[in-house]
Amino acid sequence: MNLQALTEEEKAYYARQITMKGFGEESQTQLKNSKACITGLGGLGSPIATQLAAMGIGYLRIIDHDTVDITNLHRQHLYSIDSVGEPKTDAATERLRKLNPYIKIEPINTEITTENADKLVKDIDIVVDALDAMAPRYAVNKACVDQNIPFIHGGVIREIGTATTIIPHKTPCLECFKGGIDDSKLPSNASQGVHPSIINIIASIQTSETIKILTGKQPLLAGKLLFFDLTDLTMEFIGITKQDNCRICG
Ligand SMILES: [Zn+2]
Repeated sequence: MNLQALTEEEKAYYARQITMKGFGEESQTQLKNSKACITGLGGLGSPIATQLAAMGIGYLRIIDHDTVDITNLHRQHLYSIDSVGEPKTDAATERLRKLNPYIKIEPINTEITTENADKLVKDIDIVVDALDAMAPRYAVNKACVDQNIPFIHGGVIREIGTATTIIPHKTPCLECFKGGIDDSKLPSNASQGVHPSIINIIASIQTSETIKILTGKQPLLAGKLLFFDLTDLTMEFIGITKQDNCRICG
C-alpha cells in the first residue's frame, strides 16, 4: 500500500509524539493513513475523539444521534454552553476541525442499530466503543467480528470503569464475556451519575490501545478486561475467555 507522506506542517504539529522513543515519523505516517470510527460522542467519545484527532488519525468517522444537553457539559468537554441543543456530530466536527485541520472528519448523525451497523463500520481500520448502552454495542461488535475490525470496548459508571480490546477471532468478543444484557436492567449514568476523571482514564486507555494497534504494536488489553476503581485507585486485570459456542464469533 502506498502511504501518504507527512507534510512539513504535520511534522511540526506532531513533533512531540514523533520524538517519542519507538514512535517516530513511521508511526505518525501510519496514523495519517489510518481510518478510525468512534461510536458515540458522549462521555467517552468526547475525550477519545479529541485525542485521536489531535494525535493525527487521518480519517475519523464520528457517530452519534443526540443533541448536546446542559447535563453533558461537566464531562463532555468537546462541547461548550453555546452548543446546547445542537447535534453532537455538528458541534464535535466544528471543534475537531479547528483542533486539527490536517485530518478528515466524517460525521454521521444516526442511531446505531443491527440494521445499519455493518455499513457504519465499513472500510474502517479500527472501531472505538464510546456507547452508553448494550444493544448498539452488540450490533457494532457483530459488525466488527464479521468484517474483522478490532473493537476497543470501554464503559464507565459512577467512579468505576472497564475496558478491553477485542481482536476478532483471536480474543473473546463482547458477546463472549458480556452477552445477553438487557439495557432496561442496567443502571444508567442518568440515575447513578459519573465522575469525569474515570471517563478520561478509560478513554485514554482506549486511545492508547487504538494507537498501538494502528502503529503495529501489541495491544495490552487483548483477552483481558481492565477494571479501574477511582474510589480507592485500584486497577485489576481479569482474564476473559472466548466461548466456543458464541453465537457471534464461535
Ligand atoms: Zn464471541
